[in-house]
Amino acid sequence: METTDREPAGELAGKVALVTGAGRGIGRSIALTLAGLGATVLVNYNGSRERALEVVAEIEKKGGRGEAVGCDVSDFAACGRMAEEIIGKYTRLDILVNNAGITKDGLIMGMTEEAYDKVLDTNLKGAFNTIRHLSRYFLKQRSGRIINISSVAGVAGNAGQANYAASKAGLIGLTKSVARELAGRGICVNAVAPGFIDTEMTQDLADRVKQGALASIPMGRMGTAEEVAQLVAFLAGGKSDYITGQVICVDGGMVM
Ligand code: NDP
Repeated sequence: METTDREPAGELAGKVALVTGAGRGIGRSIALTLAGLGATVLVNYNGSRERALEVVAEIEKKGGRGEAVGCDVSDFAACGRMAEEIIGKYTRLDILVNNAGITKDGLIMGMTEEAYDKVLDTNLKGAFNTIRHLSRYFLKQRSGRIINISSVAGVAGNAGQANYAASKAGLIGLTKSVARELAGRGICVNAVAPGFIDTEMTQDLADRVKQGALASIPMGRMGTAEEVAQLVAFLAGGKSDYITGQVICVDGGMVM
């Protein structure tokens, strides 16, 4: 019988990864994939504590290592505490995946200030908060990977998502700027821009919106969370050492 005290093997063995918003959806798949490659994965959650614990249980069942870490990424001070706890316990962090994100869709004429602020605070400031508190450790280590989950909406815009698209476009600017700042110390910073992926975020969309999105995908189908996770795993591993400051779409050809 497999036990969790055996050293996990794999390309990411010995690495420590933090994935924000990893209790469900794309974050969950990323956490499971990185853990499957041997990384110890810190499964961040905000509201979904039980589901984050289930992800950790799944990681451990497969012989990997993980821990659930609660933190609202839009809270700057809370992210500082999370960073201190992680480094205090694990002494290092090798991979940071800023995946946490929300939508509050609406046409610009009716969009409330609250809907705009909330989306920007979570999707864009959330990534700033974790990078701001954790990049000093990457700099000391002279290694590390930061992967920000943006969106095709940040590349091409999307009617009804001015707040969301602004946050995801901002994330691309953040990615490229931080990539330039940290490149000299061997730290790679990239953005992944998923297209239309089958998760709870897209399940609630009206059929009309779903059909419209599907019609714009040359491959004619939604993507899966696993397909996004595979690209994140590539960017987190040793086969992407010379890639930084890039935005890579996983979108079935939606944006090209
Ligand atoms: P889900 O709605 O399924 O999951 C969102 C995740 O974000 C949850 O785990 C949630 O955690 C977390 N989260 C939200 N707010 C916070 C917060 N303040 N602090 C910490 N975690 C938070 O979405 P997806 O899995 O589909 O999306 C994941 C990422 O991928 C997002 O950034 C999204 O914008 C992006 N994306 C998704 C696409 C899609 O088609 N699905 C397309 C393009 C990009 P909890 O439940 O614990 O609150």
